[in-house]
Amino acid sequence: MSRSAHPAGPRHADVLPEGHYSAPADDLNVLDPKVWAQTVTRTEDGSVSVGGIDVSTLAEQFGTPAYFVDETDFRARARAWRTAFGHDADVFYAGKAFLSRAVVRWLHEEGLNLDVCSGGELATALSAGMPADRIAFHGNNKSVAEITRAVEAGVGRIVLDSFQEIVRVAHIAQSLGRRQRVQIRVTVGVEAHTHEFIATAHEDQKFGIALADGQAAEAVRRALALDGLEVIGIHSHIGSQIFDMAGFEVAARRVVSLLAAIRDEHGIELPEIDLGGGLGIAYTSDDDPREPHEIAKALGEIVTRECEAAKLRTPRISVEPGRAIVGPTAFTLYEVGTIKPLEGLRTYVSVDGGMSDNIRTALYDAEYSVALVSRTSDAEPMLVRVVGKHCESGDIVVKDAFLPSDLAPGDLIAVPATGAYCRSMASNYNHALRPPVVAVRDGEARVIVRRETEEDLLRLDVG
Ligand SMILES: *Cc1c(COP(=O)(O)O)cnc(C)c1O
Repeated sequence: MSRSAHPAGPRHADVLPEGHYSAPADDLNVLDPKVWAQTVTRTEDGSVSVGGIDVSTLAEQFGTPAYFVDETDFRARARAWRTAFGHDADVFYAGKAFLSRAVVRWLHEEGLNLDVCSGGELATALSAGMPADRIAFHGNNKSVAEITRAVEAGVGRIVLDSFQEIVRVAHIAQSLGRRQRVQIRVTVGVEAHTHEFIATAHEDQKFGIALADGQAAEAVRRALALDGLEVIGIHSHIGSQIFDMAGFEVAARRVVSLLAAIRDEHGIELPEIDLGGGLGIAYTSDDDPREPHEIAKALGEIVTRECEAAKLRTPRISVEPGRAIVGPTAFTLYEVGTIKPLEGLRTYVSVDGGMSDNIRTALYDAEYSVALVSRTSDAEPMLVRVVGKHCESGDIVVKDAFLPSDLAPGDLIAVPATGAYCRSMASNYNHALRPPVVAVRDGEARVIVRRETEEDLLRLDVG
C-alpha cells in the first residue's frame, strides 16, 4: 500500500499532523467507484443518489444515521461470485457480515449458500426460506441446543471446531437418528491480514484444530469412527481483509496434504475442501481488491495443481465471502453536527451516530473514507476526523480524511463500504437506537431492518 505521509501542497493548515492518510483527491466531489456501491452517482444538482434516489430524499424519509444498501449491487456481486466459481464449487455467504431476511432471499434467488454461526443467524436463515441443506453451521462453541436445532433442521454441513464437538455432534445426530454431514476446521498455520500473511508453526487462537502436530489427522480419525457423522471435507479460514493470494496458496497446499494423508491412512478421498472467506474490499482508494473471477481462477489452479501432485481427485471447493459481497454495497448516511477546528491539528466533525453503528474503527483501527453528499463544494480540502456522539474519545468513525472546508452543520456526509460488520456489530451503547437498513433499487427504497425505537429499548428493561 503506498501512502504519502503528508498531502502535497499547502492546505487549510500550514502544518499537517502525522497521520495515516493519503493526499486529498484532486476533486473531493468525485466519488471513487472502487469504494462506492454501483448505482451511487452524483446528480446534476450536485447531490448524491443511490438506486436513483437522492440522499436528501432518503434522509427526509428514513432519518439519519441510516445504512443504505444498493440491492442491485448486492445481487450483482453475489452473482459474480456464483458465476466465477461455477458448478464445481459452492459459494457460502458469511451471514455474520450482515444478515436479514431480505438478504437471505436475495442470496437464495442468486444461487448462493449461507454460513451461520449462531442460533440467531440460523433462525433468520430458516425463517426467510433458505433451504437447510444450503446452510453451513460454524462456531467454536456451539451449544447443545444450537447443534440439536441445526441437525433437526437438516443443515448441509456442520463445521466441527474441537474434539469435544466431534463427539457432541455425533451423539446428537445419532440420538435423532441422523447422520450429519460435517467438515473439520483445521488451522493451517497461516495468518493473513490485508497485504501480508504470516506462516507460523503454531496456532495461538481459539478456532479450529491444528494441522501441525497431527491434531487434525487425529480429529479426522475420531470423526470417521463415529456413526453419527459423515465426514465430507476439511475447512480452513485464514483471516480477513486479505488481498494477497499467497496465504491461500499455503493453506490449500497444507489442506491437500492432509487429504493425501487421510487417503493413505484410511483409503478414502474426502470430496470437499472449504477455503473460507476473508477476501479484501476497498475501504479507501488505496485498496485494490481482486475480482471474484480472478480469485476463483487462482484458487482453482492452486487446488488442482496440489491435487495432481498428490495424485488426488480434485475435491469440490467452497468459499465463504462475507465482506467481499456485502461490504461495498452499502454506505452510512450521517448528518453533520458540531464542527471543531483544532488549530494545527485537524477538524473534528461530529455526526449523529458513531461507534454504536460502526465499531470497526475503534476495534480494528479500520480505515474508511467519507464524502459530502448533500451538495458539491469547491472549498479547499480540510483534514478531518469524523467522530460520533458517544461518551468515549475512541468513538471515531473515520480517522483521517478530507472534507471541504465549508462543511456546515446540517450537511449530509456518507461513509462508504459499511455493508459488512457495521450493522451486524451495532450496539445500543449510550442507549443509541440502532439505525435502519434501507434497500434501494430502481427508484424504490424499502426498509429491510427498521430503526430501533425507545419502546424497543424499554421493552427489554423489565426491572
Ligand atoms: C468471518 C468468516 C468468514 C467471512 O469473512 P469475510 O472477511 O467477511 O469474508 C468466512 N468464513 C468463516 C469461517 C468466518 O469466520
